[in-house]
Amino acid sequence: MDKNEPSRVTAPAKCSRCHAEIPNPVVCDYCKSVNPGAAVMDYFTLLGVPETFEIDESELRRRYLTLSRHAHPDFHVQEDPEVQQLHLRVSSTLNEAYQTLRDPASRAAYLIECLGGKSMAEDKSVPDGFLATMMMMREELEEACQDGNTEECKRLGKVLRTQHDGLLRRIGELFEQYQQAVACRAVTRGLLAEIRQQVNAVSYVKKLLSRVEEK
Ligand SMILES: [Zn+2]
Repeated sequence: MDKNEPSRVTAPAKCSRCHAEIPNPVVCDYCKSVNPGAAVMDYFTLLGVPETFEIDESELRRRYLTLSRHAHPDFHVQEDPEVQQLHLRVSSTLNEAYQTLRDPASRAAYLIECLGGKSMAEDKSVPDGFLATMMMMREELEEACQDGNTEECKRLGKVLRTQHDGLLRRIGELFEQYQQAVACRAVTRGLLAEIRQQVNAVSYVKKLLSRVEEK
């Protein structure tokens, strides 16, 4: 690794119990004990997927299921209370990690912060003109729903769904640009903020969508 590159050493090279060299940072391949550090690992490392927006979702699910099985407290009832506590903590972190990474919008939000960008609480901005469009959509929706116009509700739902998918595509493109910029040491400043805006926009659209889909 280049010495100018930030490095994140989260995976221990050795199992803390049997001291075997382990490629899997969460569960030891030899004694099957769970690494105590797993409870505080970043979600990408924990689930063993690359720290990127595009991930193989079936691979993510497969890894989550395998690790959950190892860490599940029910399989460790014979162990000391301390070890049981550890499995409880790792299990709950695994669940959180999986719920966060399986959904593209929350994965994007999480990734922004991993890369040093701002959280939604720190930066609530959205792309220009977006709020005006959303207010219009919301009014149209409320009107259609009040009048019991299910056809119109459905149509607006489709419009929102298209907007939602478009935003996610844009987020994917921006993350790719970000990776390319990092790879050739170009300026990345501004890119994360732009992604933040798109991710904030997705969360607005999702809120409206959930209203339509509730009906
Ligand atoms: Zn071991």
